[in-house]
Amino acid sequence: MNHLERFPELKGGLLLPLVESFYTIQGEGYHTGKAAYFIRLGGCDVGCSWCDAKETWNLRKFPPVEVEKIVADALAYPARSIVITGGEPLRYPLDILCGRLTEENREIFLETSGSEPLTGRFDWICLSPKKNKPPLKENYRFAHELKVIIEEPEDFAWAESNREKTGTDCKLYLQPEWSRSEKILPEIIGYVKEHPAWNISLQTHKYMKIP
Ligand code: SF4
Repeated sequence: MNHLERFPELKGGLLLPLVESFYTIQGEGYHTGKAAYFIRLGGCDVGCSWCDAKETWNLRKFPPVEVEKIVADALAYPARSIVITGGEPLRYPLDILCGRLTEENREIFLETSGSEPLTGRFDWICLSPKKNKPPLKENYRFAHELKVIIEEPEDFAWAESNREKTGTDCKLYLQPEWSRSEKILPEIIGYVKEHPAWNISLQTHKYMKIP
């Protein structure tokens, strides 16, 4: 079943289930430190135990909002960069949203588990694979950035198995799972020193106490 059949109420992407939108600083990954406007869409069936956005999982809590309103709200801020996140945003047709933001000369970044087919057009795709529901094979080649969450030392093998599927230019990040950060970070530091193709990503927005 495709996006249109699954969510007819979204009218092909003219509406989207918005959780929240806000202007902040991108805290993690390649674009860390950059001012960005976040658009968070609701609904996710991946089910990561450590998810820090569990309130977004239930799509029914987030009535569809017109893309025109989502875009108008974004344009009220000076942000040049827009991050589409979730939840899992690729559950929905994103072509209309991306088209409108591109018309407005914004650069568009996607944060995704890659577990659904790609829609929309992005300037930067951060693929963050999850064991519960791994990325679709065809999505690896779209990734500009691979960001693997490390919860325990066994996850390094999972990170490498994902890395093998990405392109050679893909930036590679290991990010400690926040609640286990103190314990796992020394292991990540050691691993990156041994495997310098990888970089460390920290959730700096949590240290800065910003959303
Ligand atoms: S894919 Fe993202 S939003 Fe979904 S459960 Fe995992 S961390 Fe949470």
